[in-house]
Amino acid sequence: MNAHSRRHFLQVLGATSGALGFGSLPRAQSAPAEVPTPAPAHPAPGQTPLRLDFHVHLFGVGDGGTGCRLSDSQRRHVNYFYLTKLLSLAENGRMDQDYVALLAQSVRTSSIQRVLLQAWDSRYDETGLPDWTRTTSLYIPNEYMFRVVREHPDVFLPCASINPKRRDWKEEVDRCAEKGARLVKVHPPTMDVDPREPRFRPFYRHCAERGMTLMFHTGAEHAADIVNTEVCDVARLEPALEEGGTVIAAHAGMGNFFDRVDYFPALVELARRHPRLYFDNSVLATMFRWRNLPRILDTPEIIGRAIHGSDFPFPANAAVFWSRLPPATVTSLLEERNLIERDYQLKRALGFPEAVFTRGADLLTGNPSRKPV
Ligand SMILES: [Zn+2]
Repeated sequence: MNAHSRRHFLQVLGATSGALGFGSLPRAQSAPAEVPTPAPAHPAPGQTPLRLDFHVHLFGVGDGGTGCRLSDSQRRHVNYFYLTKLLSLAENGRMDQDYVALLAQSVRTSSIQRVLLQAWDSRYDETGLPDWTRTTSLYIPNEYMFRVVREHPDVFLPCASINPKRRDWKEEVDRCAEKGARLVKVHPPTMDVDPREPRFRPFYRHCAERGMTLMFHTGAEHAADIVNTEVCDVARLEPALEEGGTVIAAHAGMGNFFDRVDYFPALVELARRHPRLYFDNSVLATMFRWRNLPRILDTPEIIGRAIHGSDFPFPANAAVFWSRLPPATVTSLLEERNLIERDYQLKRALGFPEAVFTRGADLLTGNPSRKPV
């Protein structure tokens, strides 16, 4: 973060931090249009740090002028059928709005104070323009994400999504930074981006200079059309770290039990050399992934880099952890309908310490806590 943006950021924090105490969160439904996107929450000295869910998806099909896009192949994907059923969503002309209402309500009735809400950039062609028809399967515009955050400042914080192949990447980084984003998501396998390519170094450097943390998808991907899995290798994030930024490896480089790829060893190795490398534990409590979270907990040297994330709407499943939890805990988690709360409670029950849930707030304010917990 340069001096100017840090000063601006701290000014906004000063204006908002008074209302951010534990248990005293504003619960406004909407904000006046002239109110800027709220800056990331920062607890005042002496207050309990905020619990954040660092990995939550905004979703839509374009209802109500949101600008979201979903390809026909993505609509036929088994996950689309499964998740719309799970969330009781229908293509009723207001699906985008129903999704936001359900998510906002889930956060409000959970133990989590804020969630980082992710946009999702498209694929781009060789000239740096969006390829809408051939290769883009999902698109959630930054503009729409900022609007949803502005309308629900009590629950959402912005996570922009920028494909570094777009010809206007620099303007988009600046635009998103000025609107209050401190986190940028890149999804290499769906965006057709190899993070190791030298041509992305100026993008990484600029994000670092603007105080934007970069989050990359790592590990297996089964929910969307992908180019290949090699671009999900944690080792390929080294150029982004070398350019001075903070980097989060989403999903810790892990996969389902049947996946052949496993980039968790690469995460552990890279974390030894780069103190600004973190990872999130999102999606790792879902079915087929019962080995993932215990493996993290059995690697003490890495726990100090862990950040809580759910990957909503993908549901945590306590049943697969039956051998590690008391039967009554499994039963109550299976009965928990709130997916944000279920993911949080399950990770607490498995042994993730409180620092993992508050580390994200520290990171957003440039004060990361790496204390081993
Ligand atoms: Zn995700």
